[in-house]
Amino acid sequence: MHLYRDLRGTLQPFWVTLRNMFRKPVTVQYPEQRQQVAERYRARLILTRDPDGEERCVACHLCSAACPVDCISMQATVAEDGRRYAAWFRINFSRCIFCGLCTEACPTLAIQVTGDFELAGRDPLKLVYEKEDLLVDHCGQEPDYNFYRQAGIAVAAPRGGNPTESAPEDPKSLLP
Ligand code: SF4
Ligand code: SF4
Repeated sequence: MHLYRDLRGTLQPFWVTLRNMFRKPVTVQYPEQRQQVAERYRARLILTRDPDGEERCVACHLCSAACPVDCISMQATVAEDGRRYAAWFRINFSRCIFCGLCTEACPTLAIQVTGDFELAGRDPLKLVYEKEDLLVDHCGQEPDYNFYRQAGIAVAAPRGGNPTESAPEDPKSLLP
């Protein structure tokens, strides 16, 4: 019984080799030959725009809070019309693990993953991408979504100053 098992164990690898010798090779001659990555493949991140061309990112810091390796940083600022945006936005791709958690956390669908995996390089500093490198001129995977049409920009009038709005409650008036 043991002899049979040992013989089988010895011959089986040869059979596997023999069988695969006559199979069509699956090697892809990269970079001359390129394979289409899966639709949900997670590689380089981008910052997308609303359909009206404005930046979607409102510099809310949620993506950097969700990032497990702490590789996103930014500074928030406000435009004259009350629209928030990132004065600068930085991703260190030498630390990024392409988990996609930042895209899950983003309330405006600004940050999105792409299938562009060709990020390798010898200089780690070249993997630090600034806003100019990340911001694209399209809507990414959400062509119809407009965050500002959903959420609106900051209201210019003071609280209670709009025609249909009640005046804000004065908490001091509630004191005994
Ligand atoms: S994909 Fe993951 S690791 Fe990379 S920036 Fe987003 S949250 Fe951070
Ligand atoms: S990319 Fe999204 S989550 Fe990150 S700061 Fe901009 S709006 Fe917020």
